Amino acid sequence: MHAEAATADLVIVGAGIVGLGAAYAGIRRGLRVVVIDRTDRPVGASIRNFGHLCIGAQGGSAREFADVSREIWLRLAKDAGFWLRESGTLVAAQSDDEIEILQSAAADGDVRMLDADELLQNAPLRRDAIVGGALITPDLQTNPREAISALVAHLGSLGVEFRFRTAVTAVSAKRVETTRGAIDAGVVIVATNHDVDQLLPELAERAGLVRCALDMMRVSVSVPRSLAAPLLTGWSLVRYGRFDAYAATARLRERLHGDHPELAALDLNQMYTQLPDGSLIIGDSHTKAGQPDPFQPEAAFDAFLSEMRGLFDIDRIDVLERWQGIYAAASKPFLIDEPEPGLYVIAATTGIGMTCGLGLAEHTLQNAFTRAPQLAQGGNP
Ligand SMILES: Cc1cc2nc3c(=O)[nH]c(=O)nc-3n(C[C@H](O)[C@H](O)[C@H](O)COP(=O)(O)OP(=O)(O)OC[C@H]3O[C@@H](n4cnc5c(N)ncnc54)[C@H](O)[C@@H]3O)c2cc1C
Repeated sequence: MHAEAATADLVIVGAGIVGLGAAYAGIRRGLRVVVIDRTDRPVGASIRNFGHLCIGAQGGSAREFADVSREIWLRLAKDAGFWLRESGTLVAAQSDDEIEILQSAAADGDVRMLDADELLQNAPLRRDAIVGGALITPDLQTNPREAISALVAHLGSLGVEFRFRTAVTAVSAKRVETTRGAIDAGVVIVATNHDVDQLLPELAERAGLVRCALDMMRVSVSVPRSLAAPLLTGWSLVRYGRFDAYAATARLRERLHGDHPELAALDLNQMYTQLPDGSLIIGDSHTKAGQPDPFQPEAAFDAFLSEMRGLFDIDRIDVLERWQGIYAAASKPFLIDEPEPGLYVIAATTGIGMTCGLGLAEHTLQNAFTRAPQLAQGGNP
């Protein structure tokens, strides 16, 4: 005889930032929320990133989700008690074409130009490496490892039930099958990042979803001043959606790829965030495939370190950690699907889930519970 299935108004698969965002949106609506994750704490992309909430570099729907996320991040940092700073983001320009892009962005808003001296006051860079820079004003920075574990604790204290070390093996609108029994649900949200293809392979194939693997490292440095905000470079300007609109961006991409084919082959985004303990997260490279190799080429780490030495006024770099992170990638920036009424599948598919994930989750809950609430048991949408 089978035990009776548990019930919940909202069942979320995945305890990364997207799943946690959905849990927060659900508990705020008075729902009974269960979050299931196969690992014994979140160890996916949401703890492996820069902690860079890169709001002002987004365009279109990404910017809309990012703006909603910003408000939620600020509230959660206060309520859950984790480190988050309203630092903005610094951009170090190393050439005139980078300055041209930043000036176009500054004319559009949320970006303030900095001369070389102002940039140097906020970042320990080599004077001869830069021509100027900018500050992207709305951006935030957090420490992802601390933030995600604080969010789990905070949501638990608000009444969210977490079931860790429990793999979900099948989902439908009304029921979630797990390795520890089934749960009947009013609404189900799948927030499993790239592993959507394990639960819903056909949906993932239709969305063209692949994995993007990134090499990352954390280093300890001896520098004359700390970094007042996350730091981007020209490689970031050719990556983030907002800058695509400017003619100079295509020219910069062509020049960077022509001058540095070895860095282009790594699909480098040269960027840095400094944590409160003084260590710096540096990266990153990108490799897209259905299943990327787990083997991390040393060439990527050599490139990170040599580019850092070229840009920073630095005596010594000690490598503390190296790791690989993976996120879902597709041609559209977000996967938002509802394969059956009440079953939602959501993911950031361009590597901006820390920036946009809370807003994406809030948007999904709003849609799910204002349209047709289907509560398994006495929810209060
Ligand atoms: C190296 C790196 C750097 C990045 N830097 C940034 C950045 O600075 N700023 C930014 O905005 N974004 C950044 N990103 C992107 C961002 O981290 C991701 O978009 C975001 O964390 C994805 O969140 P998620 O909740 O979808 O996925 P995850 O955090 O990966 O969580 C998914 C969870 O689902 C669980 N799961 C999967 N399948 C099952 C199953 N069948 N049953 C139960 N549980 C399951 C997993 O165990 C996992 O805990 C970066 C990503 C990487 C990898």
